Amino acid sequence: MADGVMHGEVVLVSGAASGIGAAVVQRLRAEGARVAALDRQPVDGADASAQADLRAGEAVAQAVGQLVSALGPVTSLVHCAGVCPAGGTLDDDDALWLDTYSVNVLGALRLMRQVVPGMRARRHGAVVLVSSINARFATPTLAAYAASKAALEEMARTAALEFAPDNVRVNVIAPASVDTPMLQASFARADDPDAARARNVQRHPLGRLGTPGDAAELALFLVSPRSGWITGGTFPLDGGAGVT
Ligand code: NAD
Repeated sequence: MADGVMHGEVVLVSGAASGIGAAVVQRLRAEGARVAALDRQPVDGADASAQADLRAGEAVAQAVGQLVSALGPVTSLVHCAGVCPAGGTLDDDDALWLDTYSVNVLGALRLMRQVVPGMRARRHGAVVLVSSINARFATPTLAAYAASKAALEEMARTAALEFAPDNVRVNVIAPASVDTPMLQASFARADDPDAARARNVQRHPLGRLGTPGDAAELALFLVSPRSGWITGGTFPLDGGAGVT
């Protein structure tokens, strides 16, 4: 759609192969953006894509370089890639915690290092980082995950202040349960996956799980000029779960 709200924009989407990231790619393209997709898995349906593991800074730099050569300078970033290992506070070793932080927090930082300086120089840009309701609501089985998302949110607030004078905005989406392969994997770990899903649905006052499309709609708003005076915010996407 040549006249969509994102016409002329180039958006880098991480975690674009699956779940929320894949939906963001489609929603942004439908609004006229050209989308540069990055994932450790192959991605279909973007304008350009590159495979890289976000835990490796060099590989990320190389992949973003390829994507910029294909589509031009990146005007927005949506960081959807994430890992969600199960484990309590004392259950796991340093390696698991470091790995979780390396994707969920440093992955975002590595991407921002590649694209934000150009946005600041052009005085035009938006960054959206996908966190989780778990950053605020403790879940004993997701200790490293929750801590990593809280760190991501604080990084976003600091970056929002730093980049605001150059008209680069930074916002966070904090979803509750969105029906993606990541959530489905957590149900599959339960003794009775169907019962786990049903219990999970009940935690959301709106009576259903979120869809990847629900998340993509909010991401679109936060990278588009419609949210041009919004920065430093964390936006719940939770079917009302946050007020219970
Ligand atoms: P998903 O597992 O479907 O997709 C995650 C994507 O990230 C995958 O394509 C995967 O290949 C990619 N990825 C993981 N590690 C990577 C790495 N090292 N390098 C490059 N790519 C990597 O999960 P999803 O549910 O779509 O999750 C998207 C984001 O939403 C995540 O940050 C997740 O924490 C967050 N989130 C999801 C839910 C939910 O209920 N699904 C709830 C809250 C927050």
